[in-house]
Amino acid sequence: MLNAIGRICLALARHLKSGGVIVNEHVLDREQTRRHVDVLSRCFDFIHLNDLPRQLYRRGKKPFCLLTFDDGKRSNATAVAPELERLGVPAVFFVVSGSLDDQAPLWFDRHRALQKKLGATPNGLSLQVLKQLPYALLIERIERACSQYGIDANPRDADVGLMSWEQVRRLHRRGFSIGAHGHTHTILTRESKTAAFESIARSIAKVSEEIGEACGSFAFPNGNYTAELAQHAIRCGAKMVMTTEPTWVDQRFPLWRLPRLQIFGDNSPGRIRLKAAVAAAGRILKNPDGTGRLYRAINRIARRDPTRNPIEKDVRSLVAEAEAEARTEAEVNVGLD
Ligand SMILES: [Zn+2]
Repeated sequence: MLNAIGRICLALARHLKSGGVIVNEHVLDREQTRRHVDVLSRCFDFIHLNDLPRQLYRRGKKPFCLLTFDDGKRSNATAVAPELERLGVPAVFFVVSGSLDDQAPLWFDRHRALQKKLGATPNGLSLQVLKQLPYALLIERIERACSQYGIDANPRDADVGLMSWEQVRRLHRRGFSIGAHGHTHTILTRESKTAAFESIARSIAKVSEEIGEACGSFAFPNGNYTAELAQHAIRCGAKMVMTTEPTWVDQRFPLWRLPRLQIFGDNSPGRIRLKAAVAAAGRILKNPDGTGRLYRAINRIARRDPTRNPIEKDVRSLVAEAEAEARTEAEVNVGLD
């Protein structure tokens, strides 16, 4: 059923849309990598990051798909990249520079380990609460819980442990793109402007230093961004900046605010097709950064007057507008992640 609906929606989307989709993945095993490539290749042509600006303006035989992988887990280098290479599919790997330096598991993997062992979320440690906190406070809570229960994430698991810089350099030499994903996996909108600017600048500089050429892309950890932070990334050398707004992308999007659609390893072919089709509508899926469908109003305002900066100037009115829209519109709830 999902398959049939997905196919029909996607066929419709392809008639209506130029542009394509930027897919946001995290960890996949080899079989999942093959499956995702197989499903997506039926509807999309895979492109390299460097071709993205040009592709936004082109209407090809098929829409394009750019694959991106966040967080720099070791399995990206040992499982995903070899499969992609064999299949001739380009991709971008966004790495957390400071975490690659110290090889400590990312905070959400430690949180997952706690939850798995305890079978419940300890007090004050729900993801919703943690994601509201500045990084120092968030880490303090996780540290305390890990030592209290004697539990931690296992960095020997290739889906938890991070790539070495040598693995990053090898991926780059083999033609994959390497982007920056913060110095730590901080939700940058919870930090002071100085700290957020610093995390963006350090991560872009470190990736550039390690790969021996300018790092041209940045992806916001957890997707949370402001226009000011995105434009700082551009000032630091990124030419393309990615969010998690779950829509297709075309020339109407500025390069400092490129939307991405999240797909997970266990998503079935039908679900992937349906997600891709629904994302073409540009208004149904929720942004996994916690801001719901606020992106719809941002896009509307940005398109009405491209000289305005809706994210910074109009947040309050946007929220009201989005809420009003949600009340008056019959929402299609497709139950997607
Ligand atoms: Zn991430």
